[in-house]
Amino acid sequence: MIDLHTHTTCSDGTLTPEELVQYAQKKSLCAVAITDHDSVAGNERALIKGVQTGIEVVPGVELSAQCEKGSMHILGLFIDFGSSRMKKATEILQKKRRERNIKILDKLREMGIDIKRDFFVNNTYVGRPHIAKELVASQHCKSIDEAFERFLKKGASAYVEREKLSEKETIKTIVKAGGIPVLAHPVTVVDVEKTLPRLCSSGLAGIEVYYPTHSHADIKHFQHLAQQHCLLVTGGSDFHGETKPSIDLGCMNVPVHLLDALKTFKR
Ligand code: AMP
Ligand code: FE
Ligand code: FE
Ligand code: ZN
Repeated sequence: MIDLHTHTTCSDGTLTPEELVQYAQKKSLCAVAITDHDSVAGNERALIKGVQTGIEVVPGVELSAQCEKGSMHILGLFIDFGSSRMKKATEILQKKRRERNIKILDKLREMGIDIKRDFFVNNTYVGRPHIAKELVASQHCKSIDEAFERFLKKGASAYVEREKLSEKETIKTIVKAGGIPVLAHPVTVVDVEKTLPRLCSSGLAGIEVYYPTHSHADIKHFQHLAQQHCLLVTGGSDFHGETKPSIDLGCMNVPVHLLDALKTFKR
């Protein structure tokens, strides 16, 4: 089995890249893709650990694209993580994250919740889960879930929109870095049937059919859409470690032949 969607401490996961590969070995997976949000920093470390453990590591990334409603995340699989274009894009996205985090902390301060800023100003990658953890640590919330519900989710009292790249630019960045662009968790895309033709003409090559929040009906539907648009099929757990404790690495039981198809496409 394989897992083509995972996060490490290089974004909002809680296992380091090395720990994640080691955990994949413990779970008897034969391959795992590292797809941190807006960061490629974990790939090299994971690849080195992969060589040591005999686990195949697929270098990747997950980029969020601008969209009016819902959310659109594009996975880049088999990226050249040294690509200067990808590095530049992730640097811009991380800067936008830092600016947004400050605005969220400002909103929280207005509500009487003061969170230390150093970590959020100085780190390369910081996301809302890190703020959620602080809200739990300072006993303003009982759980990360509660922090999102009360303060951080879209529309909640401390929510601030984050600037992203357009969907076209997102796909182009992945393609230029030699990667295969895959629409992540299509269930979060509003009106995916209407959106797909546009994404395909921008260069989308795959769709994540197997995902923890997809129902059986969703899976059938996305399989059908994949066929219709000649898209590669992928799947993964979106493992984040303790950030999402209910999701375990490899839990989607994704078969290895899907990885073989990705490799054939790449050749
Ligand atoms: P950001 O990238 O900063 O906008 O934060 C989004 C991230 O927050 C997602 O990638 C998820 O990993 C995480 N997230 C969203 N909702 C929740 C939740 N209810 N509990 C835990 N993590 C969440
Ligand atoms: Fe995340
Ligand atoms: Fe995502
Ligand atoms: Zn993800």
